[in-house]
Amino acid sequence: MISCDRCSGRAVIFQKYSGKHLCAHHFEEDVHRKVKEVLRTYRILGKPCRIAVAVSGGKDSTSLLLILHSLFSYREDVELVAVSIDEGIEGYRSRTLAAASAVAEKLGVEHVVERLDENFGVTTDLMASQGHPQGPCSFCGVLRKGLLNKTARELSADVIATGHNLDDEAQTVMLNYLKGDVDRLYRLRPKRALKGMVPRIKPLRRVPEKEMGIYAIVHKIPIETAACPYISRAMRQEVKDLLNEIEAKHPGTKYSIMRGFEKILELQPPGSYEVIACTRCGEPSSDGICASCRLLDQIRAEQSL
Ligand code: SF4
Repeated sequence: MISCDRCSGRAVIFQKYSGKHLCAHHFEEDVHRKVKEVLRTYRILGKPCRIAVAVSGGKDSTSLLLILHSLFSYREDVELVAVSIDEGIEGYRSRTLAAASAVAEKLGVEHVVERLDENFGVTTDLMASQGHPQGPCSFCGVLRKGLLNKTARELSADVIATGHNLDDEAQTVMLNYLKGDVDRLYRLRPKRALKGMVPRIKPLRRVPEKEMGIYAIVHKIPIETAACPYISRAMRQEVKDLLNEIEAKHPGTKYSIMRGFEKILELQPPGSYEVIACTRCGEPSSDGICASCRLLDQIRAEQSL
């Protein structure tokens, strides 16, 4: 048996980047420490706050709900509300949402589910069947993000917490470097307090994906293995494989990528993002028509052909 480096308990993980073996208790303590460090950067600890936790039913977002509940359940001035978006993907989303509902109910956290079809009159299945060259993810992602923001705002949430982990973040940063997309890189900044937009926070951004998997197993969180039938992230998958390979040879690389990215963010010119209300739906936009309304125009035009 390999023992924990902090006690005599059985180790459940070896962190190559820190050189430590940790038992379940000290592993959880380590994950919570990293989450608290991130929350401190968002300056939400110590203030009354209503947090909308975006839960899809996957291991990361469900674990996030559990972690935030465990960190804040003793605080009467911090409220959690779980928010899910049902994109309308037959045979997939209903399964993950059932898992999210079960965990929210167990924790006694309100769970709000909003549907794309009830809000926009479209589903991801419909968008996929139209065969747009951009692929269904471009539509689904924009509409889901917009609806999540609207729902969180209507719930009077101060922030939206999402389950992006260290691997997700490092992959996104690398993808934007590889595409030379500096604008998108800047848009990844940790907190965006723009008019009409509920700021997003990513409490798991310092926790590696593998550790989120172990966290879910240790806490017996049901892991939904079904993948969205439309998933097509060819380049992201390549970047993911590459980063995992480099991380295995040089532990800590994913943390280094994020440290470098945080330094780049400091170079962002002030006032880069002006936000005005969409003239159609009133949601935030950069030029008077929001991304959701533009996509809906394209989908409806296709329907009327
Ligand atoms: Fe939507 Fe694409 Fe995610 Fe499926 S993989 S839920 S289509 S964004």
